[in-house]
Amino acid sequence: MKLSYILEMKEPQNGFFQVTMDVEGVSEDSVLVTMPSWTPGSYHILDFARHVRLLRARSKDNEPIDIQRKDKSSWKILNGNYKNFIISYEVYAGELSVHTSHLDSTHGYLNGTSVFMYIEGYKDQSLELMVKPFGEWKISTGLEKTGDNKYRATNYDILVDSPMEIGTHRSLTFSVDGKEHEIALYGRGNEDPDQLLQDTKKIVESYKAQFGNLPYKRYVFIIHILDNQGGGLEHLNSTTIETDRYQFSPRKKYIEFLSTVSHEYFHLWNVKRIRPTELMPFNYKEENYTTLLWVSEGITSFYEWIHLYRTGIIKEDEYFKHLMEYIRFYEFLPGSKYESASDSSFDSWTKLYRPSPNNINSYVSYYLKGEILGFMIDARIIEHTNGQKSLDDLFRLLFEKYNRDGKGFTEKDLLASLHEVSGLDFTPFFSKYVRGVEPIDFDNELKRIGFKIVRSYAKNEDDEVKEKAYLGIVCGVNNSKINVEGVIENSPAQKAGIYPGDELIALNKFRFSERFLKNIRSDIKARKVDNLIEMKPGEKAIIHAFRSGILMNFEVTLAKAPYDNYEVINDPESDENRMKFKEKLIKG
Ligand SMILES: [Zn+2]
Repeated sequence: MKLSYILEMKEPQNGFFQVTMDVEGVSEDSVLVTMPSWTPGSYHILDFARHVRLLRARSKDNEPIDIQRKDKSSWKILNGNYKNFIISYEVYAGELSVHTSHLDSTHGYLNGTSVFMYIEGYKDQSLELMVKPFGEWKISTGLEKTGDNKYRATNYDILVDSPMEIGTHRSLTFSVDGKEHEIALYGRGNEDPDQLLQDTKKIVESYKAQFGNLPYKRYVFIIHILDNQGGGLEHLNSTTIETDRYQFSPRKKYIEFLSTVSHEYFHLWNVKRIRPTELMPFNYKEENYTTLLWVSEGITSFYEWIHLYRTGIIKEDEYFKHLMEYIRFYEFLPGSKYESASDSSFDSWTKLYRPSPNNINSYVSYYLKGEILGFMIDARIIEHTNGQKSLDDLFRLLFEKYNRDGKGFTEKDLLASLHEVSGLDFTPFFSKYVRGVEPIDFDNELKRIGFKIVRSYAKNEDDEVKEKAYLGIVCGVNNSKINVEGVIENSPAQKAGIYPGDELIALNKFRFSERFLKNIRSDIKARKVDNLIEMKPGEKAIIHAFRSGILMNFEVTLAKAPYDNYEVINDPESDENRMKFKEKLIKG
């Protein structure tokens, strides 16, 4: 069987890609073609088939071939005696995000699963792709090039795991380990391209030091510089990252951007080559449930900051400040008491990408819990091996074992590898903290590396530390309207009857403005919590709010707010050995 695709963008301003599949030598008299329902790395159903139009099939001598609908994402091609035939369709690409495709007069961005269909039973078939770019547009992709705008993939997975940026974008290149790395930049903002190149190179070198080599021939960073957007998606030997136009300075914002670069890059090992068995092979038609996204995503989040430290981009105190902010957030979230890391991973399809006001009280993301588990596991490996081994060794071992076998790893495999590296049986740990929701004693966790947590209230603008009062609401701000998006369980707001969806109007008859709010976590700008710095616990507050257009008022008795500032200091009871453990954790 021979399979080749042609990709065209005849009138990019209309937003449609034209795809032609040339099929030769099938043995069946009918085949099923399917458009994926999701894209690996974004664990939610997107139903890309809804953007398909003009699906046609014809013989090589242009005789039409009948097609039947099979289900929402598949079509049956009734090719009969024709063993060679052509399938063609158009697909609308109107959404610019890392998990969709976009085509307009400025560029084409292609995320393979939302453009290319596959033939059931032939996903392992090697294939060729010819791209006909619009005008003088050029192509940046991790796909293996065989000629002018011609590419080859050993199977469908690789085709769709190689996004393409097509247009007049800038390309920066650097080399590590004799391998070419390209940064394709679509859009402009306050970036400094030289700085970006140097820092990206440092990140690549840092991971190379962890693993010893780079398991690809070429790597491409596609970066979309946009208004108010952020995110990233990992691929086999490339990644797509979208960032706000003004994310490249000041330094604090730039570090957040670089942490995404670091995160997506580490995925080339963790999840792309060290993959949970349920994601191997991908079933593109429906949900692929796994309980291990806390490893694939959460531990990737753990490493993204560790490697920023190892590159020298951030200092040790900045790393621990980040970790403390995540620990503070975990302790603040009531949901962390209810959802385990395993369930959170499994529920990705219905929870992470489908936020509900209830999430705050019932859910914790596998990113957050996984990052914390990464830290806890690392500290235990280091402690138990007296500083000889760390999580780095676990990942080297997982890569060695599961990159090649094509089966992926299970939770049992992970436990076996953890035992092999540390000599410690992690089964009880998994029961408590991975499958269970046992409260985490963070003071004890930090002691393992010679630190002590100091919890307090953040200083106000006069540099004073004062006890704070709180309502317990989580809000979003939209066109200066402040809407309640969640109410913390057992908080004063919940007791008084404030409900998600309420539009906050006034506090003690003063306009409810952003003055009373702050970011829920230092790196999350879209969600706020109340921050009533001028009020005291025990005081009464009258809240006015609209609910479905009706003005309501609530009398709330403010309570003592949770501490909002966590810091680490050296544990006075600790010994020098523990300080070495800390060095091992951050330096590897
Ligand atoms: Zn990720």
